[in-house]
Amino acid sequence: MTTNSALEAENSTLRRRLETLLHEARQNEDKMRRFDQLERLLIGAGSLLELVRLLLTEYKLAFGLEFVTLALLDRDHEARRILEGGLGAACSGLTLLPSAAPLEALYRESRQPFVGAFSETDHQPHFNSAPDAIASVALLPLMRQGELIGSLHFGSADPDRYRAGCATDFLERLAQIIAICLESALTQERLKLAGLTDGLTGVQNRRYFEHRCLVEISQARRYKHPLACMFLDIDKFKRINDSHGHQTGDEVLRRVAHVIQSQLRAGDTIARYGGEEFVVLLPRSEIHHSRQIAERIRRCIEETEVEALSGQIIKVSISIGLSMLPDAQTSSAPPPQLAEGLIAAADQALYQAKNGGRNRVVCADDGAPGSAPVATVFARAWLRAALRRLKRA
Ligand code: GH3
Ligand code: MG
Ligand code: MG
Repeated sequence: MTTNSALEAENSTLRRRLETLLHEARQNEDKMRRFDQLERLLIGAGSLLELVRLLLTEYKLAFGLEFVTLALLDRDHEARRILEGGLGAACSGLTLLPSAAPLEALYRESRQPFVGAFSETDHQPHFNSAPDAIASVALLPLMRQGELIGSLHFGSADPDRYRAGCATDFLERLAQIIAICLESALTQERLKLAGLTDGLTGVQNRRYFEHRCLVEISQARRYKHPLACMFLDIDKFKRINDSHGHQTGDEVLRRVAHVIQSQLRAGDTIARYGGEEFVVLLPRSEIHHSRQIAERIRRCIEETEVEALSGQIIKVSISIGLSMLPDAQTSSAPPPQLAEGLIAAADQALYQAKNGGRNRVVCADDGAPGSAPVATVFARAWLRAALRRLKRA
């Protein structure tokens, strides 16, 4: 080989090498850009649900991964309550753990990201995938104050995607950011909850209920679902306070709230409306079913015994007014007006339950002779509420 052709060969080898390096650099730059974009999204997430959705869906799309799952430590079922309602398709891949044991078993002492080959025994339970679907994995421990708070798992069908010995700085940084975002989202959610929860009974407060009512009315209209509203008021509660003291009265309120809640489904809403009054929303519940639930609540409370500070056993009863959202043909009023009418109609039915002797359920349209159709009751109730407002103004 002449010196010239040797130089040419070396030149083209070097050129190819340079092209490969440039290609890798471009790929890394692109990866960095996607990491950066994702980080910004994570930091800007407005809620825990949005954060979880970003991790489970956006990450998968941005990095072309086949499997992404997330496990969160949720000892007091707090995250479950916060995510309730959103725990559908957007959260598939999320596991809420009552104890840290599965995470501790996964990372043992290292508490460092793991990259390498998929192990059916160690990793399969965290992916819930078909046995041969994953060839390599990256597992990121999410830590705060030295404690494992969760774990994010990436799975790829490509055995070279995550090779043992690969640098994990990227992943370590991502894990730190995600852990901080999760902690901050939980703190935010706690603050939101504190402003919307009744301090004495732990159920939602009136502010939350009024907001929820508008959401449920819009949903009921959009999906043509029924929506029921209950107004519940403890009978002769003042007498309990007067005879046994305020502390015992408070305990009765807590127990009643607990009994009502125990009879509801996950998507229902219960709130303390004020004093000894509670309100309940039952989405997708027809009138006869709502009446059965109301009757069950009434009976359970009638059977409840509360021990006063003196040791004396107190029996409690409750009166319940029930109303249904009129269907779209009957009323096309905007949601705030419908909400007002729905609550006012249940309140009016409650008034009848009190007048009828207490410890009973009255429905705004119970089909009894002389009872007005729900739309009429609704319109009247709304008019009454409007008149009350006018008088107050
Ligand atoms: P009715 O059967 O007609 O509903 O009679 P009631 O005695 O239940 O109704 P009333 O409105 O006369 O009394 C409600 C009482 O609830 C008066 C108030 O002092 C008491 N109350 C309101 N909030 C609380 C609270 O947070 N704790 C306690 N212990 N009592 C409360
Ligand atoms: Mg009352
Ligand atoms: Mg009362």
